Amino acid sequence: MAEDYTKEGAQYGFHFDQSLCNGCKACQIACKDKHDLPVGVTWRRVVEYSGGSWQVQGNTFEPNVFAYYTSVSCNHCENAVCMEVCPTTAMSRRPDGTVYVDESKCVGCRYCQWACPYGAPQLNAETGHMSKCDLCYDYRSEGKDPACVSACPSRALDWGPIDELREKYGETNSVAPLPDPSITKPHLVISPHRDAQAWDSGTGQITNPKEI
Ligand code: SF4
Ligand code: SF4
Ligand code: SF4
Repeated sequence: MAEDYTKEGAQYGFHFDQSLCNGCKACQIACKDKHDLPVGVTWRRVVEYSGGSWQVQGNTFEPNVFAYYTSVSCNHCENAVCMEVCPTTAMSRRPDGTVYVDESKCVGCRYCQWACPYGAPQLNAETGHMSKCDLCYDYRSEGKDPACVSACPSRALDWGPIDELREKYGETNSVAPLPDPSITKPHLVISPHRDAQAWDSGTGQITNPKEI
């Protein structure tokens, strides 16, 4: 029998090992392919963030620069502000803790999109409804891992009950350019890149805005 990956009360979330991510975007493409998402809708996105400067040291220029990637989707947050603002209760939580869009109730008002600091809910113009990561509920129902997790060639992504992920990987849940984690309490654990900047540092900039 397949393992039960939709356990009631599990409060599933993601782990992202930023030190292993090389920005290949296989996770982003695997998600898009698995869910057959139209152009302009991307449930998992890989963000490039870089900054720093050069200093003159004697007769040479010394670099003090950084660049790293962050792969991010919906974080199935403890404080899901998307659910709070949804006027029709279309944005809902499953018994296993994951947040999903009940399309039969969604009127496409976009309140959830504006409220979510991760930009996770996106309008699918073909259906007229919001859409977002459901942590691959159908795959999990069959005892399979989410598509993005399986696709990562660097094994930078993991998933599971958030308490287990925190025990295994620590408590870090934000780095720049992700938002203040106190807003939604994301079910996300990050193993930071060696050059990762604090979420509120403002030291760099997103360098691939047209891709995300
Ligand atoms: S990341 Fe955004 S859409 Fe996902 S649960 Fe949190 S607030 Fe809602
Ligand atoms: S868990 Fe599934 S729906 Fe969510 S980002 Fe990964 S592939 Fe996409
Ligand atoms: S597939 Fe893995 S290595 Fe590639 S961008 Fe996604 S998380 Fe990073």
